[in-house]
Amino acid sequence: MLTLASILATTALLSLAMLLMLASLLRTGIAGIREWFFSNICLIVALPLFILRDAIPDLLSIILANALLITACCGYYAGCARFLGRPPHLHRLAIVIAILTAVMAIWTYGDNNFVIRVLAITTFNALIFTATAIILLRHRPLNRHPHPYWFAASVALLFAICQMLRGAYFGVIEPPDNLMSFDTIWNVALLSIGAVALPTMTMAAVMMVHDAMLASVEDAANHDHMTGAVSRRWLETIAREQIMRAHRTGKSLSLLIIDLDHFKHINDTHGHAVGDEVLREFARITIASLRDGDALGRLGGEEFGVLLPNTDTEVAIKIANRLREQSQQHVISGSFGACNYSISIGVATVRTGENFDILSARADRALYFAKNNGRNRVEAERDEEKDEGRQGENYMNAAT
Ligand code: GH3
Ligand code: MG
Ligand code: MG
Repeated sequence: MLTLASILATTALLSLAMLLMLASLLRTGIAGIREWFFSNICLIVALPLFILRDAIPDLLSIILANALLITACCGYYAGCARFLGRPPHLHRLAIVIAILTAVMAIWTYGDNNFVIRVLAITTFNALIFTATAIILLRHRPLNRHPHPYWFAASVALLFAICQMLRGAYFGVIEPPDNLMSFDTIWNVALLSIGAVALPTMTMAAVMMVHDAMLASVEDAANHDHMTGAVSRRWLETIAREQIMRAHRTGKSLSLLIIDLDHFKHINDTHGHAVGDEVLREFARITIASLRDGDALGRLGGEEFGVLLPNTDTEVAIKIANRLREQSQQHVISGSFGACNYSISIGVATVRTGENFDILSARADRALYFAKNNGRNRVEAERDEEKDEGRQGENYMNAAT
């Protein structure tokens, strides 16, 4: 009895610590935290009721305590579902909680049958924690570190197994005279694992929240907020990796530098807000028409860069012209009326041993020629090797 009380009291303290940690994360507004917070409150209230079993009425120590315990388990599941963007099925969970509470009441006040009570609770807990493990593993975000999700799912599965064993032990193998028959090593082991399950899983939930916060900070740092294109810094990071890979594998890599033509005029004519909309729309259609693995980055103002891995100059010019044509045909309309725009593009393909600064300087030079040669056109710098004997004509007019 003393052992049971000390295990439950330790769990209550652990849950309290977890509750404080979750409280500090509530203001992040991340989905799922409120449900996990609620789950811990239910557990913290339930545990003293279990401890006071002989000192308070059964209504509190059996029925309310068990109802709170299963609500805590449901709350944890609902938190995981919300966090992962899945439906939490709150109505169904509420119905199951009501049915189980009724079962507790019937087999406490009607026929006082401990075995049925313990089987009902352990079966339900095993099911809800198996469901928790499944939802965590099936719907975890694939682009993030898997550790917190695997950790939470493993603890959920371990807890589900302990609940099944506990149900089998009390329900089938050795039904005790009362709940406090607590003298076997098995029972102590199963109860101890069961007791730390929810606080441990809450710790895993906190790890998942930290991971989500980190991902959102990284996402904000690596993307341009207005257009959704990657940031200049991130484009340079990707470019450096891709240039190293191109040097290693001997595959080609091309860079387009794109500048919207007469953009100042668009701002002056329609206003800055319409200018912003043009930038957003340009980024949207450009991202949509690039392949997976290509990247559009905003270099600043109305200037963008596109990285095209495994693409030689000839194909890069074709892609650039496709982007140019689609921008030229793109009409942006709204309450201001309609507005169209065009783009000029400089193309450069990485050369042996070349770094990003030199590559982008060459693409920039090509863009300069595209602007000077009348805008709404594509210019590519020639390969030096192919260019021998044609000095003074360094740029190939690539407009179609
Ligand atoms: P060019 O064809 O030679 O590129 O002419 P341009 O007018 O596009 O180039 P210029 O460099 O003279 O002007 C660029 C303009 O882009 C000026 C600047 O106010 C505007 N601009 C830069 N960033 C933004 C932005 O985020 N939103 C809006 N609406 N305008 C921007
Ligand atoms: Mg411009
Ligand atoms: Mg510019």
